Amino acid sequence: MPVGTVATVKGVPQDILEELGVQILLGNTYHLYLRPGVETVRQLGGLHGFMAWPRAILTDSGGFQVFSLNELRKVSEEGVTFRSHLDGSSHFFSPESAMEAQIGLGADIIMAFDECTEYPADRARTKASMELTLRWAERSKKYFEEHKHEVPWNAAQYPVPSTQYPDGGATPAPMAGGNIWVLGTGYSTQSLFGIVQGGMDLELRKESAERTIEIGFPGYAIGGLSVGEPRERTREVVEATLQHLPADQPRYLMGVGTPEEIVEYASLGVDMMDCVLPTRAARHGLLFTAEGKVSIKQARYAQDAGPLDPKCGCRVCQRYSRAYLRHLYASNEVLAQVLNTVHNLSFYLDTMRRVRHSIQLGEESRFLSSVWSRPKP
Ligand SMILES: [Zn+2]
Repeated sequence: MPVGTVATVKGVPQDILEELGVQILLGNTYHLYLRPGVETVRQLGGLHGFMAWPRAILTDSGGFQVFSLNELRKVSEEGVTFRSHLDGSSHFFSPESAMEAQIGLGADIIMAFDECTEYPADRARTKASMELTLRWAERSKKYFEEHKHEVPWNAAQYPVPSTQYPDGGATPAPMAGGNIWVLGTGYSTQSLFGIVQGGMDLELRKESAERTIEIGFPGYAIGGLSVGEPRERTREVVEATLQHLPADQPRYLMGVGTPEEIVEYASLGVDMMDCVLPTRAARHGLLFTAEGKVSIKQARYAQDAGPLDPKCGCRVCQRYSRAYLRHLYASNEVLAQVLNTVHNLSFYLDTMRRVRHSIQLGEESRFLSSVWSRPKP
């Protein structure tokens, strides 16, 4: 999922995101709550209407941004008090208000309000934080169940059916715009995912996973990683936690990673990931290619007539030279950020397309071998 923090993937218009094959993007509740404000977005039809994006959207709960952008935050049982990074004004997020904000923003997938445990943290602190996240998960779900019909695109166009679909709720329902689908519940409303915490402690991760599943969500996220721990530790925690999450429901690893890492995590069983890396790196002139990383600001590219990535089919690599991209970057032109971001997103999306293709091939060969090995009647 490309990250569109304030309802825009920085520098890239929505029609180009569609052309790149973006199926779902992420918005940050914390930022959108502060500006333009939930009520403004709600009145304009939710994020889909506001940003003219008919495909799927996921919003985070705001918990991670409060954690990462606010050194002066105050956490209590009730919620978190924090100061706006825009004007210093004081705000409060609770599980209930984070759900209210996300229902108003109207993404397809929304996240339970959690506490992202800092790194490093001792076992007692990690356990206390995990317990708080579990209590907040229950409160998030309770509020969501009582208020999910308030999503801006629901009441107006697709009233919630009084009964579930015959298959128990797995049938996707059409949503505003007609060509996007609500995952998981079968209702024409949002899906609320739970978040597993537990720091770097594998036993606590297991306990957090099991107890979050007991509360019951249509999908589960692994949170609290990429917070400064070494990458081997991230992998270890991901692998251990995945074992305790249902493989037939979406498993979402939050906030990773490099192209190599997303391939690795997908191979472990992760279904969804989000990361600012492709877009943020692009704005700093760092480009991912089939031949490795390219720092386009380097003087060595000043005369280079070749494409950025000869193996990439994106509109940037098809049209422009490395020399031109280097010139745009050196001249601090807005177009440098646009073109660099389009290429990096294209590279990431191609990487995930290859992952999906190889999974399909693998499943096909497993299916075929199971057919071949079947005893003849
Ligand atoms: Zn390209």
